[in-house]
Amino acid sequence: MTTPSPHKQGLLRVLDASRYVTDFKKGLLAHLANPRRAITVCFPVEMDDGSVRSFFGYRVLHNNVLGPGKGGIRYHPDLTLEEVSSLAALMTWKCALIGVPFGGAKGGVVCDTKQLSEGELRRITRRFIAELGDNIGPHTDIPAPDMYTNAQTMAWIYDTYDAMHPGRNNRPVVTGKPVDQGGSLGRQDATGRGVVFATEHYLGIRGVNGHRSLQGLRVAIQGFGNVGSAAAKALVERGAVIVALGDSQGAIHAPEGIDPAQAMAFKQRNGRLCGMPGTTNISNAELITADCDILIPAATASQVHADNAPDVRARLVVEAANDPVTPQADLILHQHGITVLPDILANAGGVCVSYFEWVQNIQNEQWTEDEVLHKLRERMSRAVGQVLRHSEALQNDHPDDAHAALLRTAALALAMERVSCAVLERGIWP
Ligand code: GLU
Repeated sequence: MTTPSPHKQGLLRVLDASRYVTDFKKGLLAHLANPRRAITVCFPVEMDDGSVRSFFGYRVLHNNVLGPGKGGIRYHPDLTLEEVSSLAALMTWKCALIGVPFGGAKGGVVCDTKQLSEGELRRITRRFIAELGDNIGPHTDIPAPDMYTNAQTMAWIYDTYDAMHPGRNNRPVVTGKPVDQGGSLGRQDATGRGVVFATEHYLGIRGVNGHRSLQGLRVAIQGFGNVGSAAAKALVERGAVIVALGDSQGAIHAPEGIDPAQAMAFKQRNGRLCGMPGTTNISNAELITADCDILIPAATASQVHADNAPDVRARLVVEAANDPVTPQADLILHQHGITVLPDILANAGGVCVSYFEWVQNIQNEQWTEDEVLHKLRERMSRAVGQVLRHSEALQNDHPDDAHAALLRTAALALAMERVSCAVLERGIWP
């Protein structure tokens, strides 16, 4: 079966969810489904061997009615403007849902970081930010890390913007910076930890296989990057057992449990997880259907689709990645009694701590890690509670409607309601 592109999926979902938004003005649909602004740049960079290569970069501002655009910058060889646009829309819903005063944005450069030196990456980043010029800014559009970018990339972004705008506090122009450059304690692991806080709160209310906590629950995680590894660590600290773990090259399986620290050390030595002693190699496809209680896709989009959704054995799927479950798979999982904690809720911890970083930068303060984590847990739990309550209300109003029963529908409808309400409150200009 063919899987629609993430962009089409995003449009479909917005269209579906709009049916459940109270007093929704139909004329707003195209405004909410499309980006407010999309920028494409193409720029040359001198490579280490003296040759010159041109790179394409994008920055999309989806919506800024609730505040400045906010969202990551990813570096990926297959990146397209369409994909960036749909990820920017997800940021709008994510920010509205978690209650931070930002709109949605996303950006990136088409490049393969595995083939580039640090010097080349620095020159690409600086030139990209220079090309974007005043399309980013502390109160207009604020980048952050995403796939294959990190705190170092954010330091270069800050430094480039600061050189272009001397004499003022430019720290809030970008989040996810190194801590000594105004980064927030706890930002690095925030998305992964947020995934775990959201899961814990969900378990406390609804439970999974009779368990109300993570203690003893078996978890499969696809993806061992920043998000997957932080989630794995926090899960094991709470007594969960990681039975399967995957990276881009394959996956490993061990019913007795995988120690994330050992897996990290093995991956650092060997460049991959496969072959780790005490585990069996499996494919990423087998990981998705592995015997477990909770499945956490923490890698790329469309990993659970119409073809493999009927075989998923987890009872709860927690979307740590953006868009890992397709709309068709959503309905199949629901028919099989499997709940999905949607991306805009489950992985909002990253942007939540980005907001904390932005506030600290504006105040020129640094909060303790405990304070950051306490506030993160509070916000994740509050959002999960709101989505569960909204979902119950939708199901009461629309009995026997499978779409209304999805937590994604409740999350998206709630976020769209907040954004469309703000559009109307501010008044449509002129
Ligand atoms: N890239 C992350 C996300 O997709 C974080 C964005 C941010 O912190 O602005 O949510």
